Amino acid sequence: MQFLKESLIELITQTSSNLPPDVRAAMGMALNTETPGTQSSQALDIIASNIDMAVEDESPICQDTGMPTFIVHTPVGVDQIDLAKTIREAVAEATKRGKLRPNSVDSLTGKNSGNNLGDETPVIHFDQWRQDEIEVKLVLKGGGCENKNIQYSLPAELDHLGRVGRDLEGVRKCLLHAVWQAQGQGCAPGALGVCIGSDRAHGYMLAKLQLLRTLDDVNPIPELAELEARVMQEANTLGVGAMGFGGKTSLIGCKVTAANRLPASFFVSVAYECWAFRRLGVRLDANSGAITKWLYRDPSRALDKMARTSGFPLTGREVILTPPITEEQVRALKVGDVVLLNGEMYTGRDAVHAYLMKNPPPVDLNGAALYHCGPVMLKQGDQWVVKAAGPTTSIREEPYQADVIKRYGVRAVIGKGGMGPKTLAAMKDFGAVYLNGIGGAAQYYARTMKRVLGVHLLDFGIPEAMWHLEVNNFAAIVTMDAHGNSLHADVERETANVLATL
Ligand code: SF4
Repeated sequence: MQFLKESLIELITQTSSNLPPDVRAAMGMALNTETPGTQSSQALDIIASNIDMAVEDESPICQDTGMPTFIVHTPVGVDQIDLAKTIREAVAEATKRGKLRPNSVDSLTGKNSGNNLGDETPVIHFDQWRQDEIEVKLVLKGGGCENKNIQYSLPAELDHLGRVGRDLEGVRKCLLHAVWQAQGQGCAPGALGVCIGSDRAHGYMLAKLQLLRTLDDVNPIPELAELEARVMQEANTLGVGAMGFGGKTSLIGCKVTAANRLPASFFVSVAYECWAFRRLGVRLDANSGAITKWLYRDPSRALDKMARTSGFPLTGREVILTPPITEEQVRALKVGDVVLLNGEMYTGRDAVHAYLMKNPPPVDLNGAALYHCGPVMLKQGDQWVVKAAGPTTSIREEPYQADVIKRYGVRAVIGKGGMGPKTLAAMKDFGAVYLNGIGGAAQYYARTMKRVLGVHLLDFGIPEAMWHLEVNNFAAIVTMDAHGNSLHADVERETANVLATL
């Protein structure tokens, strides 16, 4: 199997950097139907540019390359132990080449292995089949959308929808609730993989496997085809929109399977996938390991560009901020303003925020812009280089953020999906804003990063370290201001009102 490792590295590289055609088509449709000039439309423009940039540079579409999950079919007689070993070697090598972010963290010590290898990572599922070739499918699903997976046990009482029972009508309401509860935190517009029935653990697995279906296929079971079509239509009346900014497209796919269940249980398991829906596959010669065919994509067909404009369409009304930012500058901003950040910023996510609760910061954060981001970084010679650097889900920092603003004078918090009432109150009391970046736009934002000025707390691992960056024209939208306004709270309330009518 002399070609196996390189074939697998190529599969990982393409999956990380090149969205499959069905997802590109669905995102193109979202782009064309959104009302021009809205925040959702601006977000979709950045997403489209980012998709093109990732292909050009063969770099990760989103910095969160997720839990690599391989679904493998082998002919009888293929040594699956050897194959698993080569998959692990390919994952480590792709990580070294900057195609995957080091994402494997020891759950007891918190230590990042640095190469995406560890207990149960990557995830590999094997099946045998009576065909001559090996098939390997790969899904890279990041943490932001993984955290929005949800499982319902029917009958249940759902927010804004009331009591739902053990039938397809109950399932329909669960699926609308699943889209609503994700808001922008799972980087909407998203897609649902769904399993009705089974047990809790296997139901989630079967739900994830539904993400292997293309977005344009039609369920062969008429009742499920009807359910999928209805959920697609109704979810797109909710108004969540791209990144939860409010808009026309909230869902790009809904794929449902049903499995037998125990008489006592009726689970509806939902795998929520973000717009950066990375899924590809290959057929491999079982003797040499060479790729004989790509699944989901045809490499001989030229890719059309996604972007209508180059990056973020500027209007000239953007507010330029150069840290250190003053309280006066922050209080002049209001929800909906577009900000271009120039100069210095720091990254900080879960580990940094927990650290700052007990320790002083390693740098002066007065007037600083603090970016919730776990980038992909490579060291080239003595210099660190940013390979991918989009925002991560901010709500995880809700327990800490108000204290960090109050104690250290941070003026701009940048992330995605918004934050809660405690942070909003601190922003009002101490003068700070929340700037929503476009989730998944890792290449777009990496290109705004001109230099890595330094790194602190690198012991936490590359994604969790505090990176000191110099940026130019880093675009984000004010979605929580220093006057107590939150676009996220507004969209959640308005979409809840629609949900209640469905
Ligand atoms: S696009 Fe958003 S939800 Fe998806 S992997 Fe990236 S950060 Fe996570």
